Amino acid sequence: NRQYYLAARPKAFPTPEEVPFRDVVVAEPGPEEVVIRNLYISLDPAIRGWMSDTPNYIEPIAINDPVRSSVIGRVVKSASDSFAEGDIVMTVGGWERYTTAPAAALNKIADMPGIALTNYLSVLGPTGLTAYFGILKVGLPKPGDTVLVSAAAGAVGSVVGQIAKMQGCRVVGMAGSEEKCRWLTEDLGFDEAINYKTCGDYQQAIQQACPEGVDIYFDNVGGEILDAALLCLNKFARVAVCGWISSYNDSDAPGPKNLWQLVAESVTIQGFVVLDYLDSFEEAIGQLAEWVMTDKIKFKEDIVDGLDNVLPAFMKLFNGTNDGKLVVRLEP
Ligand code: NDP
Repeated sequence: NRQYYLAARPKAFPTPEEVPFRDVVVAEPGPEEVVIRNLYISLDPAIRGWMSDTPNYIEPIAINDPVRSSVIGRVVKSASDSFAEGDIVMTVGGWERYTTAPAAALNKIADMPGIALTNYLSVLGPTGLTAYFGILKVGLPKPGDTVLVSAAAGAVGSVVGQIAKMQGCRVVGMAGSEEKCRWLTEDLGFDEAINYKTCGDYQQAIQQACPEGVDIYFDNVGGEILDAALLCLNKFARVAVCGWISSYNDSDAPGPKNLWQLVAESVTIQGFVVLDYLDSFEEAIGQLAEWVMTDKIKFKEDIVDGLDNVLPAFMKLFNGTNDGKLVVRLEP
């Protein structure tokens, strides 16, 4: 069983020395455990956070443990009556060929026409659900609100913007290339897109794209973009803090400077993790699936082949070369 494991906690971008691979014997399933042959590994920015030992919403990955990821795989051995060989399941696994997991931690995946397995890692999975709960429950959109989304062409951001449009909002996205910006406005219906790599002064660019100010800032990046967005907020605006990807590889990154705007404009800022809404997942997946099938939500997946490409693929999230939800496909 080839697996990529955490040999040392990365100080910046994870290196092959910090995340090397090894070949180990596949653990036999104990009582109520199953062995899965992984088909897809989800690559998410959050994994970088779990590689560090700063306090987080789940335990850090222990040194010497496989790097943790959501995976979809086929059951190849089962010591549980609930799962049979051949079942397709999703669980928390690792950057590895085979995962041995407790049956209680598996979700069987239903075969739905028109829905690819990878969709359960993207628009119908953690990133789609993050967008859904983040914008609807934290952002609290009202018709006519102006919504600003960062990392807007990514897996979470692109769905956030489309849901906000359906709520009658004016939606402005920030993304790192002309191509991504075009996708937002021409294909997804965003009202405007800002290429933050070429726009110059962020505050000016946001003010220009949001002449009536920002009512909801959906923050995927933190850093200087958050600081600029804080200066563009309307009275009683909401900031939904979803992630701060700009600082994940830089533990010395400064925090936001313009938090006084929370007082000046009576702003609500709220962080959240998708797991806060576990009890409503089923309902949300049903709604997202309906939107996907009726073409109200479009999405992209960036599928990289081969377990041995997992670490360079992971880097795409931090240099912006991923084009949609990033997934590694293992040979079947
Ligand atoms: P994406 O598909 O959005 O990929 C990451 C994107 O972030 C890159 O493509 C890049 O796009 C952008 N990016 C990378 N570095 C920077 C930077 N320094 N400044 C600005 N933009 C940058 O990933 P996800 O949709 O999976 O995740 C988006 C955010 O949501 C992350 O912060 C993640 O941690 C968070 N998240 C939070 C969850 C929660 O429960 N709270 C759950 C899932 C995700 P570009 O080309 O535009 O620069």
